[in-house]
Formats: sequence, structure tokens, C-alpha cells
Amino acid sequence: MKIVLLGKPLSGKGTQAQVLSRTLKIPLISVGELLRKEIAKKSSLGRKAAPYTLQGRLVPDFLILPLVKKHLTKKSFILDGFPRDLAQAQALEKIISLDFVIGISCSNILIRKRILARRSCERCGKIYGLDVHPKKKNTCSCGGKLMRRKDDIPYTVYKRLAVYQKQSTPLISFYKKKRIYYKVSGDKDTSSVSQDILRIVS
Ligand code: AMP
Repeated sequence: MKIVLLGKPLSGKGTQAQVLSRTLKIPLISVGELLRKEIAKKSSLGRKAAPYTLQGRLVPDFLILPLVKKHLTKKSFILDGFPRDLAQAQALEKIISLDFVIGISCSNILIRKRILARRSCERCGKIYGLDVHPKKKNTCSCGGKLMRRKDDIPYTVYKRLAVYQKQSTPLISFYKKKRIYYKVSGDKDTSSVSQDILRIVS
């Protein structure tokens, strides 16, 4: 099964991608997470990508496409954070055909509340937020330390929202035309959203 999750920043797509990957036992490819790892390693790609992520802009395709191609398995995957615009969708189409594109809608009011709450594990990447709390303060279930993403500051989130609106929303009609687009409401709690998504893909 090949699934893409679409949604505004902080709509919950990263969290849902992790839940779906665990539940369906399908590999998760989170492009933002792959970039953050490259940035942490200070690799050549990481050094080039960092300024874009800090400014909330899309990293150019000549850096992104080889990264995605390297991690795409031909069988099953959950893809989070790709495609981000029509050019990326067309590039993806040349490699693979998708089964489901799930769009997670979310109100801007909730996104504003989530900005300050989101933390992720520096070791395994697990995401915590308004309704997913760690058992031990600032510590992931794997024992890793919880960190705030550098691009989760209001100014950068608003920039990322504007980029989403302009560059990513055309993907909705692109995938609707292909009849593989399904919308769920991300304004509910995490497990209700997961159940809605699972109903669609199963
Ligand atoms: P995310 O973790 O999906 O919120 O992505 C964090 C940041 O990584 C984005 O704001 C972009 O700067 C960059 N990024 C992630 N996915 C892509 C992509 N498909 N194309 C370009 N830039 C991306």
C-alpha cells in the first residue's frame, strides 16, 4: 500500500504518519525528518537544506528528489511531507503509482495552539503534543530527550502556512482528479483521526 499524507504544518500529519506506520506495519518516509537528520549530521545536503527549513521555505528539488528516491521502496510506504507541490507530484508519478492520498484538514486556531506544544524525540523522532504526553517529563518512551523543532516558532510556522497555501493546496485537486484523494478532519483528538484514516485505507 502506498499512502501519502497531506496537510498544513501542525495539522497532525507527522503524528498520523507514525501511528499509521506502526499500525499497518508499513515503512514511514518522513522527508522533513530525513532532512532534520541530515542537518544534525551537518552533511553536505544538511548544510544546504538548513537555511530553507529555518525560513520555512521549500528545499529545492535538486536536493529533495534524490533524497526521496533513495528512500522510496517499491512495495509499501507512508510518505509524509512529499509531494509539496505539483512538480514534486509529477516527479513522484514517474516513479510510482499511489493508492491513497489522505488530506488532513485543520483549523488555524488549533494550529496556533499546537505550535508551542509540539515536541519530538531527538533519538526516534516520536512526536508529542496537546493530547499525546510523555510519561516522564521531556523524555520519550524510548528514553530519548524531547526537543522543540527550530522551525516551530510562530513567525516560521506562519511562513510555512503561506507556503502550504500557495504551493501545496493545488495537490488536492490534482489527486481528486485521479480519484485517490480522501479528506479527514484533523480537528479531532489523535486517536479519532487515526481511526478515520484507518477506515479509509482498510
Ligand atoms: P515537515 O517536517 O514536513 O514540516 O518539513 C519541515 C521542513 O522541511 C519544511 O518546512 C521544508 O523546509 C522542508 N521540507 C520537507 N519536505 C519537503 C519537500 N517535499 N520539499 C521541499 N522541502 C521540504
